[in-house]
Amino acid sequence: MSEKLAKEVKKRRTFAIISHPDAGKTTITEQLLLFSGAIREAGTVKAKGKKSNKFAKSDWMEIEKQRGISVTSSVMQVDYDGFQVNILDTPGHEDFSEDTYRTLMAVDAAVMVVDSGKGIEPQTKKLFEVCSMRGIPIFTFMNKLDRDGREPLELVAELEDVLGIQAYPMNWPMGMGKNLLGLYDLYNKRVELRLNEESDETEAYIPLDEDGEAEGEHSFKSSSIYSQAIEDATLLHEAGNEFDREAIDAGKLTPVFFGSALTGFGVQTFFDAFVDLAPAPSETEAMDEVVIEPEDPRFTGFIFKIQANMNPAHRDRIAFVRVCSGNFEKGMSVTLNRTGKTLRMAHTTQFMADAREEVQDAIAGDIIGLYDTGNLQIGDTIYSGNKSVQFKPLPQFTPELFMRVTPKNVMKQKSFHKGIEQLVQEGAIQMYKTYHTEEYIVGAVGQLQFEVFQYRLLHEYNAEVVMTPMGSKIARWIDPKDLNPKMSSSRNLLTRDRFDNPVFLFENTFAENWFKDKYPEIELKQLL
Ligand code: GDP
Repeated sequence: MSEKLAKEVKKRRTFAIISHPDAGKTTITEQLLLFSGAIREAGTVKAKGKKSNKFAKSDWMEIEKQRGISVTSSVMQVDYDGFQVNILDTPGHEDFSEDTYRTLMAVDAAVMVVDSGKGIEPQTKKLFEVCSMRGIPIFTFMNKLDRDGREPLELVAELEDVLGIQAYPMNWPMGMGKNLLGLYDLYNKRVELRLNEESDETEAYIPLDEDGEAEGEHSFKSSSIYSQAIEDATLLHEAGNEFDREAIDAGKLTPVFFGSALTGFGVQTFFDAFVDLAPAPSETEAMDEVVIEPEDPRFTGFIFKIQANMNPAHRDRIAFVRVCSGNFEKGMSVTLNRTGKTLRMAHTTQFMADAREEVQDAIAGDIIGLYDTGNLQIGDTIYSGNKSVQFKPLPQFTPELFMRVTPKNVMKQKSFHKGIEQLVQEGAIQMYKTYHTEEYIVGAVGQLQFEVFQYRLLHEYNAEVVMTPMGSKIARWIDPKDLNPKMSSSRNLLTRDRFDNPVFLFENTFAENWFKDKYPEIELKQLL
């Protein structure tokens, strides 16, 4: 075990930012890039995002091309305060897909950005649940403190009530909106002032004395906002959760920070504590009870995302690999465990904030992109050396949206079947068939998956398809031995998944509950 490698691993922080669209993920990412010196001007990331909004959804290929940064913004590596920080994007809006969930399988921690005017929103909750299932640490940033939002106590209580995670406020707002004085920072034992032209203060940070008061004479100390913040914070510390490192590491307690990504207030305080507390890469579980330590000198990694059609002329795609151990070097040969084939890693890419660059070297915790012509699948393990490794399969997620799909040209059935088969195997979409009539139904967690599916079938397999939306459904699996064809009705369509397991697609919760009442002995199961 090389000491140099171990030291490098300790510096890695690999995480995703999870939030509902518009909570401020892009803005806070941009602040991080600014602090790290990766960009010089705020607005750079957003401008690119904005540009893409001009395109209709069906132009997703155009979007990819236009952004050029789609991949670069999917993963960014920056140097922050001596740490190598890898940020993995989890897109919102129409870009939301199974890839988004799978990306959370490749991170060691998550930052949850909450709009303090809105509290926990649906997409945050979904993403949170996937992180929570993995037991990774989750750090909360209550954003938009420069606006009048909800009561901080209420926001913290909501984390516990809605998400079921215990919360530990690391700092506490002194006012909000126009009246935002600053943060009462318990973790760093200081007051962090929001300085502006009118303030008579020049220092942003004022240490706390033994009684928890800001040291020295300051006009803000006579403000009721200040005393209220101390009162709230003290109350929370006496009656609330204790700071518990183990609980944080296990994802049972979330440290909560307040701030404003837009003005940058509180953001540095947040990231400083984040890199300090978030874990470095740790072991990865493989099959047969094998555990791979990040400091293991042989290279291992798994593929968690495949981005297709980066360049339509070459039909290439990029497979995203989470490095689990060892050192990846450009040009090295690795074995793809599923096939036993050797691949030479000549064309790889690393993701920097401003440009895609050739990877020279990557270590555990880093993400690399492999140019692929169709050899790789989601969930694949690659490794160097002779001893084979297979990481545990990535979880499957319960799709929520469904479409019926038929080939437009019956003469092209063969390419249609081949295309579907491969795209399903690759993890781009999920496939179901109606029980007796064997009609094809595809399922996804995000609308974009359908568009990608249709596009790729046409361009890669020359199969034009007709897709008929079925809307959202609740998919529930049952034990095959419980199956009785009579159970199927128009409100709960009986299908089979690609492993031939019976699945009901319920119209809505009402239909699901009706079924549960009628067949109380039958267990309905879902994927993640
Ligand atoms: P994303 O969809 O989560 O990436 O959200 P963005 O970062 O694009 O932010 C959505 C909107 O909220 C933009 O108009 C931002 O300028 C705004 N915004 C983000 N952070 C703040 C903040 O701290 N305060 C205020 N007032 N607006 C913010």
